[in-house]
Amino acid sequence: MAEYRGVMVHAEVAEGKLAAIATELLGCGRKLADDLGEELSAVIAGSGVSGLAREAINFGADKVYVVDDALLQEYRPDTHVAVMEKVVRQVKPGILLIGQTSIGRDLAPRLAFRLETTATLDCIELAIDPGSKRLLRTKPVYGGNARAVFTSEFDPQIATVRAKAMTPLAPDASRKGEVVAIEAGLDPATVRTEVIEKVKQEVEGISLEAAEVVVSGGRGIGGADGFKQLEELAGVLKGAMGASRPPCDNGWVPDVRQIGLTGKIVAPDLYIAVALSGSSQHMAGCSGCKNIVAINKDPEANIFREARFGVVGDWKKVLPAFTEKVRELLAE
Ligand SMILES: Cc1cc2nc3c(=O)[nH]c(=O)nc-3n(C[C@H](O)[C@H](O)[C@H](O)COP(=O)(O)OP(=O)(O)OC[C@H]3O[C@@H](n4cnc5c(N)ncnc54)[C@H](O)[C@@H]3O)c2cc1C
Repeated sequence: MAEYRGVMVHAEVAEGKLAAIATELLGCGRKLADDLGEELSAVIAGSGVSGLAREAINFGADKVYVVDDALLQEYRPDTHVAVMEKVVRQVKPGILLIGQTSIGRDLAPRLAFRLETTATLDCIELAIDPGSKRLLRTKPVYGGNARAVFTSEFDPQIATVRAKAMTPLAPDASRKGEVVAIEAGLDPATVRTEVIEKVKQEVEGISLEAAEVVVSGGRGIGGADGFKQLEELAGVLKGAMGASRPPCDNGWVPDVRQIGLTGKIVAPDLYIAVALSGSSQHMAGCSGCKNIVAINKDPEANIFREARFGVVGDWKKVLPAFTEKVRELLAE
């Protein structure tokens, strides 16, 4: 067990750049590595990705392993799992952090199986146990109603981390680091999957995941027209509009707006929850928000237990006045 050392981050690439989740993992990985007094490394696997190593160093990596191969152009389990297995077996990191993204959700369990270790998915907090020096992995359980802390005696200790749960470091171009190229060593004959088409989801305005303000509506909004008022407030605050599941199921807003257990996970500075009850399944997607403001006519609604500020009232009366006041304040 002692031969496994250091913290490694699987650094995802999105549109030719390090993905936001990669910088968040590097921020968290840096802290864990410092707590252990060990090295932080990153793995960048893709095609034409060598130039990104410097960026990973700026965000905190001591060493970057680059696997640059045309077969790694798109994520495919065949190629990426094989490459990650090769790198991990070679480097033997004590901890491996992967993003809780569609790629990470596929990669982590497959990799854990091949490496005969465990993976804890969807972590929102990570720390080093001061006594055992093992990784403590905190994740929501029971649909977000409770949090559990897991640890494992197997190495490498693999965890996937939820987007926006960790904060990136400010990039520092003066940081020093080493770049190591590793051959992918892939045999094209063993690749069984092929990406036939990629369909890009069109998002108007700011995406939910990137927004610092989210205005979200629930069943109590009552129809598509009501959501126009939420969209207006989101526009005034330069934020994005979200929804609980019923408005999506009813076709009042597109499915891509859904926040929650089976929707998107957001962690903005401000989450304005309008006419939604705050079910555990909804909160699973927004429990990381820094400030929740709730508008609901039911003073007993669960959302008031989660909210920092709340208004008990009919949203149809409260929201126009609220939007007007925000407009006024922003104009000052
Ligand atoms: C496996 C599973 C996965 C799920 N995944 C998700 C998910 O990802 N996201 C999600 O959101 N849900 C999800 N759900 C559904 C979830 O259980 C709840 O049913 C849903 O979140 C409730 O949505 P809501 O709060 O909008 O509606 P309700 O619970 O019906 O709440 C409506 C609220 O609006 C208030 N209201 C009504 N009229 C007004 C008014 N005029 N002014 C002010 N307030 C008003 C009411 O007081 C009430 O609190 C899932 C369920 C399951 C079983």
